[in-house]
Amino acid sequence: MSSIENKLELDNDTYKTLLESTRAIPWKIDWETMRFAYIGPQIEDLLGWAPDSWVSVQDWADRIHMEDREWAVNFCVAQSKAGVDHEADYRALKKNGDYVWIRDVVHVVRRDDGAVDSLVGFMFDISERKRTEEQLAALRRELEELSFKDGLTGVANRRRFDMVMEAEWNNACRHKQPLSLLLLDIDFFKQYNDRYGHLDGDQCLKRVARLITLAADRPRDFVARFGGEEFVAVLPDTHESEAYKIASRCRDLIAGEHIPHEGSAIGKYVTVSIGLGTMSPECSDETHAFIKSIDRRLYEAKQRGRNTIVNG
Ligand code: GH3
Ligand code: MG
Ligand code: MG
Repeated sequence: MSSIENKLELDNDTYKTLLESTRAIPWKIDWETMRFAYIGPQIEDLLGWAPDSWVSVQDWADRIHMEDREWAVNFCVAQSKAGVDHEADYRALKKNGDYVWIRDVVHVVRRDDGAVDSLVGFMFDISERKRTEEQLAALRRELEELSFKDGLTGVANRRRFDMVMEAEWNNACRHKQPLSLLLLDIDFFKQYNDRYGHLDGDQCLKRVARLITLAADRPRDFVARFGGEEFVAVLPDTHESEAYKIASRCRDLIAGEHIPHEGSAIGKYVTVSIGLGTMSPECSDETHAFIKSIDRRLYEAKQRGRNTIVNG
């Protein structure tokens, strides 16, 4: 061995000192027995569980937050079996009952014949980062609230709807004009998310929002996201028969878009149910009861089999 290699060589004690003086927590699991071969003593400072209490992977799994456990365990096992290095973020249970966000970075060690020998990794405390992320998300929500536009779909948000509804309501009673309102709700959207994932769900919401604005496109028509996967269209100076045509256009445009929806129990594509109401309000009337009555019709459209419009 050359003298340079000699200098670069570290003895086991030095390795151990280095490993155990970092903030990241090193560990090793023997693949065959699924037991911990090693875990850094720093684990006790972070979580309160002594190193010798980490015996098998079951101890690791038991100390993951219930909501994170299933996916974290399934993901890590699948990646390890496939021999792929990976990382997972989850909440780890502390001995005192609190939780800490951990990022577990895992390297799969293979034997010469390619079989998995062991897993080695580091656990990082990422609670600070998670806190910052959560604060940022809360700020973003706050900003969105303060603005008038729904951040995802680009149509007006609920706050703006409340203001427009109030203004159009007053306008309708002053001028003795009919005011129509549509409430639209995507059918089986929970199943859509389950089947295609939340990100594709978001894309679907965007497309549906755009189609509704295409259907309700007269100058004073107003479309907003009412919440979740529900939209609302305010149609000023519009009689019920005209409003029904616009509702039909919404339904047909959306169904005709042929957005695949394998989770739908009523067809292959995304559809919406619509509640529709028209009123020539007296100035003493309130918007609340009107909106509620249309919400009941939307519910009835669901009961009648969805992809349906229910009016008065
Ligand atoms: P129904 O036909 O009776 O309306 O069934 P549904 O599955 O659509 O039922 P529900 O209205 O209760 O489900 C709404 C779902 O919409 C649940 C929620 O996860 C999802 N959702 C709400 N907001 C968003 C969002 O911003 N993005 C995504 N992807 N999904 C959302
Ligand atoms: Mg809904
Ligand atoms: Mg729905």
